[in-house]
Amino acid sequence: MKELLDRFLRYVKVETTAVEDTTEYPSSPGQFELGKILAEEMEEMGIEDVEVGKYGIVMGTLPGNVKKAPTIAWLAHMDTSPDASGKNIKPIIHKKYNGKDIVLPGDKTKVIEVDETEGMADLKGKTLITTDGTTLLGADDKAGVAAIMTAAAHLLANPRIKHGPIRLLFTCDEEVGRGTDKVDIKKINAACAYTLDGEGEAGLENETFSADMATITITGVNIHPGFAKGRMVNAIRLAGLFLSRLPWHQLAPETTAGRDGFLHPYMIEGGVPEVTIRILLRSFVTGELKEEAKILKTVAASILADFPKAKINIKVAKQYRNMIEHLDKEPRAVDLAAKAIKAAGFEPKFESIRGGTDGARLSEVGLPTPNLSVGMHNFHSPLEFACLEQMQSSVNVLIELAKLWGKEK
Ligand SMILES: [Zn+2]
Repeated sequence: MKELLDRFLRYVKVETTAVEDTTEYPSSPGQFELGKILAEEMEEMGIEDVEVGKYGIVMGTLPGNVKKAPTIAWLAHMDTSPDASGKNIKPIIHKKYNGKDIVLPGDKTKVIEVDETEGMADLKGKTLITTDGTTLLGADDKAGVAAIMTAAAHLLANPRIKHGPIRLLFTCDEEVGRGTDKVDIKKINAACAYTLDGEGEAGLENETFSADMATITITGVNIHPGFAKGRMVNAIRLAGLFLSRLPWHQLAPETTAGRDGFLHPYMIEGGVPEVTIRILLRSFVTGELKEEAKILKTVAASILADFPKAKINIKVAKQYRNMIEHLDKEPRAVDLAAKAIKAAGFEPKFESIRGGTDGARLSEVGLPTPNLSVGMHNFHSPLEFACLEQMQSSVNVLIELAKLWGKEK
């Protein structure tokens, strides 16, 4: 576990915060910097065909030592969330964690509370890595990077473990929704892939939302307010009406959980003549997105009935689709992951993500990619922490996965 911890601490020190508003790829130079460090380490340990691509993506191949076994890929992203600073991260190691709330010394208002943190009570006695409270930790997703590198090093050092070829892939800008933009799945050329980007331990995420985005443009009639009686149609008021008529008690992020979908207005701008609203449509069942879009049309029609001089335009754009619809293409992707988790000593926890992952997009374009746990907690926040033993379990899961795929044809 020392190697794993050393790697992790080395990687979190490189500032790789993703930047939202830029056309650069990768969006921050630190991602290139970390990529170069990883490429050097990969070459040193004996990974073949290592390259840092022009977009900062790092790829290499752990050669197989059995004939005919299919190629698989392990993926993690090098960038960290822009939701909190990733500069000068000062990780604190809590050996034999005492099971109590953790006050972070760099900002004592930041407290990781056991009652507020799912699964934390079970981590008593383990090694936790936290921040000092002033930055995030970057376990999302450097725990994934460190686990993949450690598992690869283990397989190279133990040639008696039989496995097929494994591609290692470290990607950029996942946190700003561009994680797969520059990924070339033809070049990866694998039967399936695994992202190491999940919370806790033994999780196997094989379902995501299906997602569309609606842009509603409400056009009113603008006129000097002094002469407006009977003539003005204020798009701002209609936007208010529109939002209030959405069935948000049943279909909003604030009022749903589990397997329920929602409509989520997340952006509004405009004035009296015109208002634009953007609404996220989400459901685990792709077919239900049409029903959600129909609700928007019904609400629009009800407003136009009351205000015939207004115009409402609704445009729905596709975002991503539930991964499970595409995992069928290679059923072994999930089956063998579940077996690997069992072989590592755990009961797999199948999970549905109320969001999307890079794996959802990759699965859709032809590379089935479920997501695995890698010991991170409270990500995107200064309260982020990682559990070293859980990270080690994910290394063990990767090794078992390599063995299981090594027996396939
Ligand atoms: Zn992540």
